[in-house]
Amino acid sequence: MKITFPHMGNIHIAVKVFFDAMGVDYVIPPMNNGQALEIGAIYSPEEMCLPYKIMIGNYMQAIEQGANTVVIVGSCGPCRFGEYCELQINLLKKLGHEVKFIVLDNPKEIGKEEVFKRIGLLVQGSKKNKYENVKAALKGIKAMNLLDEIEKKAYWFAGYEGNKGECKKILYRCRQEVVSTEDSDQALKILTKYKKAIHNVKLDYSKEPLKVAIIGEIYTVIEPFSNQYIEERLMDYGVSSIRTLTPSWWVKDMALKAVHLNSIKLRRASKEYLALGIGGHATECIGEAVLATKAKYDGAIQIFPVGCMPEIVSKAILPTISKEKNFPIMTLVMDEMTGEGGYATRVEAFLDLLERRKERCII
Ligand code: SF4
Repeated sequence: MKITFPHMGNIHIAVKVFFDAMGVDYVIPPMNNGQALEIGAIYSPEEMCLPYKIMIGNYMQAIEQGANTVVIVGSCGPCRFGEYCELQINLLKKLGHEVKFIVLDNPKEIGKEEVFKRIGLLVQGSKKNKYENVKAALKGIKAMNLLDEIEKKAYWFAGYEGNKGECKKILYRCRQEVVSTEDSDQALKILTKYKKAIHNVKLDYSKEPLKVAIIGEIYTVIEPFSNQYIEERLMDYGVSSIRTLTPSWWVKDMALKAVHLNSIKLRRASKEYLALGIGGHATECIGEAVLATKAKYDGAIQIFPVGCMPEIVSKAILPTISKEKNFPIMTLVMDEMTGEGGYATRVEAFLDLLERRKERCII
């Protein structure tokens, strides 16, 4: 069994740490790029959302390298994500690839027994005992938390850094170094080293950078290729950005969902504008926008793929929040046709607007 999985931000690093610790055979697809998207767009239904297409590209590239099992997380709806695995299984079959899928669904939806059965399939290639497999899972989670923390600090500190570009350099070096090792303990040491490095960046608090919240559909905000590297662009402009939706947030949210204790702050904040869950992370998007106004950020950027049903609803609500709270929000809708020039111009124009508002102290 040779396992592969789709990319989503830095998740491949945490999964790599987990698989290395378990000693299972795996293939990491090439980092998301135009080729993966092109392959995905050729074979996917045209009206399908962008994450689906990129994932298909990931699978096809991994299959070329010998992968025969795909691991993905699932959901029973209500947006298209609930149908991803079935559609992807059928599509790959049609294309002549007999690939096994292990779908890690929410235990609330498929039952704990089924979840354990599927996890059993996942670890069957490992020669480690149960205790070692649990330890491997904990290492993967630790790696995920460390990465998310390093990223979060890097994106925020970029507005305050004394030496321009330092945060970005640390982030790049961290990602490069950690994927170069196949020793899970060494990987955790590297991440701890970079966590210290990012905390030691010299900051200049006399600076007053723009502060922008990144909100929207979870895959598109986390996966830099699909949002045309928005956070790294903001780092280059000296803007501090913050994003709540991260892989570690998702794991915590899923775990607490069973006891209805997940994302309480976000759900409360969204209640006035969107009281019901409508799928995807629309509730979180609205909650994040409201919390961003309370945190006195300068603005928010909502990002989602063309045709994303939950985020279309959020998009319709955000102008009301913007008007009532006097808070600028820009929406960027992404697909395989999104051109870099027009995209960069829109981001720059929005930052210009925020800068002018700040100078005139409108907020
Ligand atoms: S949240 Fe949006 S982009 Fe993601 S699967 Fe659902 S419809 Fe597609």
